[in-house]
Amino acid sequence: EKYLVPFGGSAIPQEKPDRQIVGGKGLGLTEMSRIGVDVPPGFTLTTQVCQLFQATGDLPDEMWVQIKEAVGRIETDMNKKFGCYDFPLLFSCRSGAAISMPGMMDTVLDIGLNSNTVKGMAKATNNKRFAYDAFRRLLDMFGDVVLGIPHEAFEQRLEKLKNETGKKDDTDFTAEDLERLCDEYKKVFGEHNQVFPEDPYDQLKACIKAVFGSWNSERAIKYREINQITGLFGTACNIQSMVYGNLGPTSGTGVAFSRDPGTGKAELKGEYLINAQGEDVVAGIRTPEPISRMEHDLPEAYKQFVQNIERLERHFKDMQDVEFTVEDGRLWMLQCRSGKRTGQAAFHIAVDMVEEGICTPQEALLRIEPDHVRQILHPTFSKEALSSATYKDNVVAVGLSGGPGAAVGKIVFSPQTAEARKDEGVLLVRNNTSPEDVGGMWAANGILTSRGGVTSHAAVVARGWGKPCVCGCEALEIDEEALTMTVKKTGETFKEGDTISINGSTGEVIRIAIETSEPSFEGAFSTVLKWADDVADKCKVMANADSGPDATKAAELGAKGIGLCRTEHMFFAPERLPVVRRWILRGEGLDQVQGFQRQDFNEIFTAMNDKPVTIRLLDPPLHEFLPRVQQVDATMATDLGYGGNVNGLINDIESMHEENPMLGLRGCRLAIVRPEVTTMQAEAIINAAADVMEKDPANAKPFPRIMVPLVGSVAEFNCQALAIKKAAEKIKATRKINVSYEIGTMIEVPRAALISDQIAAVVDPDDGKQLCDFFSFGTNDLTQMTMGISRDDAGAFLHSYEEKGILEDDPFKSIDEEGVGWLVRRSSVEGRKTNDHLSLSVCGEHGGDPKSIAFFDRVGLDYVSCSPFRVPVARLATGQAAI
Ligand code: ADP
Ligand code: MG
Ligand code: MG
Repeated sequence: EKYLVPFGGSAIPQEKPDRQIVGGKGLGLTEMSRIGVDVPPGFTLTTQVCQLFQATGDLPDEMWVQIKEAVGRIETDMNKKFGCYDFPLLFSCRSGAAISMPGMMDTVLDIGLNSNTVKGMAKATNNKRFAYDAFRRLLDMFGDVVLGIPHEAFEQRLEKLKNETGKKDDTDFTAEDLERLCDEYKKVFGEHNQVFPEDPYDQLKACIKAVFGSWNSERAIKYREINQITGLFGTACNIQSMVYGNLGPTSGTGVAFSRDPGTGKAELKGEYLINAQGEDVVAGIRTPEPISRMEHDLPEAYKQFVQNIERLERHFKDMQDVEFTVEDGRLWMLQCRSGKRTGQAAFHIAVDMVEEGICTPQEALLRIEPDHVRQILHPTFSKEALSSATYKDNVVAVGLSGGPGAAVGKIVFSPQTAEARKDEGVLLVRNNTSPEDVGGMWAANGILTSRGGVTSHAAVVARGWGKPCVCGCEALEIDEEALTMTVKKTGETFKEGDTISINGSTGEVIRIAIETSEPSFEGAFSTVLKWADDVADKCKVMANADSGPDATKAAELGAKGIGLCRTEHMFFAPERLPVVRRWILRGEGLDQVQGFQRQDFNEIFTAMNDKPVTIRLLDPPLHEFLPRVQQVDATMATDLGYGGNVNGLINDIESMHEENPMLGLRGCRLAIVRPEVTTMQAEAIINAAADVMEKDPANAKPFPRIMVPLVGSVAEFNCQALAIKKAAEKIKATRKINVSYEIGTMIEVPRAALISDQIAAVVDPDDGKQLCDFFSFGTNDLTQMTMGISRDDAGAFLHSYEEKGILEDDPFKSIDEEGVGWLVRRSSVEGRKTNDHLSLSVCGEHGGDPKSIAFFDRVGLDYVSCSPFRVPVARLATGQAAI
C-alpha cells in the first residue's frame, strides 16, 4: 500500500497523480516538482489515508515506515535533520482536498521546533531572534489549530509583553523578548490542561490527525453542503520542508497571478515583502510591494520566477495563481493553481493563450465559465463597490436571482408609473408581474418581485431582455395600493421614489444607490464564442424572440435562428389591445389582427433573413388578453363593440373565466374550438414571407417553421397540421410564390411524449407525405405537467424542498433528467423511428441552462433555444458539451 506521494528535491514523481487522491495543493506541488520547478521537498499523504482515518480513528502503522523513509530523503536533500540540534529540519503541514475548501484545518508551520532544537536553529542561522520568532509562531498555531486553545489566549500574552516592554509592534521585539514570550505561551498550554509535545514526531502526528479530522468538522461539512460538494474521498495532507523568507534582506515572500485577473493583460500581478513570512503579506502589518519591484530587489530570483511562471502556464495551459518564498536569494514555489478571474479577463486570456501557442481553442474554451459570459453581457456593480462595507451593510433582503446584472433606480409600484417616470430611472417593484405589465417592465432599469420563482413571468421576461431582476423576495411585503415596500423582519419601509439597488446575480436588494459599470463587448468575446460554434457541430443555439427588435438582438448575439416566437406578446401594444379584445369577445376585426401579425412576421423575417424562424401558434388562454371586470366602463364597452353596454361586456368577460386556465382552453384546443385562429396565423406567416421575398427577390430567403402548441393526441396534430398546410398552400397558389416552410409541434403535454412515434408518423392523405417536420420540447410546460408543479406558484415551496434536500435543483432551471428528461429522450428516439427527417429542439427556459444543455446534447437534439441574452452562455455550453 502506498500512503504517500513524494515531491521536490531528489524525488521526481514519474506520472501525473490523480487530483482526487492528492488534492489540489498536492497536485500543484507534485506537478511543479515533476516539470523541474523548485518546491521545498515533502510528501503528500493521500485522501485514502483520510478515509482510513475516518474509518478507524487512527493512522496505519506501516505509513510511519514510509514517512520516516521520505523524511530521510528530505534530510539528505536539505542537509538538515528533523528533531536534531544541528540545523534542524522543520516542516509545514497543509491540508488540501481536490476542490479548494475553506473550513478545513489551517496550515501549521515550523513543526519540529522544541526547547532544544530552537537553540540549534538560533545557532545554525546565527539569528536567535528568528529562531524564537518561529518557535512562538509554532506554539501559537499548534495550540490553536491542533489543540483548540483559543488564539486570543496567546494574543493576551503578547499584548501583556508589549505593555511590559513598552513596544508597539511584534517587529520591535528582541530575541530575548521572544524567548520570554515562548515561555509565556507554554504556560497557556498548561492553563488549558494541554501539553506542547516536545517530540517532533509527536508534533507531526498530532498535525496529521488534526488535518484528517478537520475533514468532518462542522465547518467543513456545512461548507460542502452549501456548495453541493459531493463525491470527494477526503482531504490530503501535505508535509513540506520549511523555507524561510524572513532570514534578512535577501529573503522574501509573495503571491502572484501570472496575468492580470481583472483585465487579463499578460503581465505579472502580485505582491511581495522582503524579509517576511508568508502570512505577513496578507496580514496587513506591513504594506507589500508590487511584484515588479522584485526585479530590482532580488534580480536572480525574479528571473527564475518569471521562467517558472512561463513553464507552469505552458504545463497547465492556464493562468496561474502562485505562492512563493525566496530564502537567501534562492526561489522556492509553495503553491500553484488556476487563477480566478473576471469575465473580461477570461476572454482576453483565452485568446492570448491560443495566440501564444499555449493551448488550443478547445482547451481555452473549457476555461470559460458561464458566469464569465454573463459578466460581459450585463452592467454590474463595480468590483470595489461589491467588496465594500457600504454594500454589504446595506443589503436589506435577499430574493432569487431572476435575471443577472445590477440595477439602480427609484422605486415605482405600477407599470404605468414606470412608463411615466422612465426618464428618472426606475425599478419596477411588484408582488408579481403579468403580460399586461410588459410596457412598464421594459421602461424600468430592473424588476423586483416578492413572489414567483426563477421561471415566473417577471424573471423570464427580464432575462429575455437582459434586464436585472430579483424575484420571489419573500422577505419583502409589497403593498401596491399604499405604494410601500416593507422589510418584514425589521419593519423598514420604502416609499415610491426612494432609490435602491438590486443585484440580479445574487438576489440582493440594497437600500442605497450602488455604483455600476457598463458592459464592454470586445473582440475576444466574439472570437471565443465563434470557437464554441465551430466545435458544437451537432447542437446549435437558437433564440426565443417575439418581435423584430428581439430578433435583431438575437442575431447580434449569435443565434442560428429563432426557436420560439410567441407573437401574441405583441398583442399587448396599447394601440392593438382593443382590436384584439374585440376579436376575442365578438369575433370582429380578424383582418386587423391578421394585419398586426403579418407586420410583425415581416420584421422578424427581415431580421433573421435565411435563418429559420419557428413560430408557435396562439397559445395562452384568451382571457389573458381581456380587461378585468373592475376596469370596464362605458367608453371601453363602446370601443369593444358593445355600444356602451357595460353589463354585456362584463357578462362576456365573466363567461370566459376558467378555474384552471393553464389546463384549460389554450394551445391547439383553442384553435380547434375557433379554427380561424390557425388559418389567420398561417396566412399571416406565409403572406409575410411572400412580402419579404417580393421586396428583395435576390436576397430574401425567409424560412418559417409553424409550430402547433399543446398537442396531446394524434388527431389534434393531424387536424392542425392539415389546416396550416391548406392555408399556406392557398396563399402560395394565389400569390404564385414558392415560400418554403415547415410544420411541427411542441412536445409539452406528457401524453405527446408518450405517443411521439405516432405523431411523427402522421401523413397527409392527399399527397402521402409526412406532415411533421420537427418536434420542439416545451420543457416549461412539460416539467409543470409531468411533475404536477405550477411554476408560477412553486416559489412558495421550492425553497424548502431544496433546503431539505427533497429536490436537488429547481426543476424549472435545470431539467429533471430522471423524469422529464426521460420523456424527452424517449420522445426523440420514438419520433425518429417513424420519421427520419424529424428535427429536434428544445425551447423551454432549460435551453439556456448549461447543465441542461449538456443533457440535451447527449440526447442528440439539433437545437436549443433560449432568450437572446442567454444565447452566448448557451453557445459556450454547446461548445463545451461537444468537447
Ligand atoms: P492556504 O491553503 O490557506 O493557502 P497554505 O498551506 O498555502 O494555506 O499555507 C499558508 C502559508 O503558509 C503559505 O502561503 C506560505 O506562506 C506558508 N507556508 C506553508 N508551507 C510552507 C513552507 N514549507 N515553507 C514556508 N512557508 C510555508
Ligand atoms: Mg496557500
Ligand atoms: Mg407551453
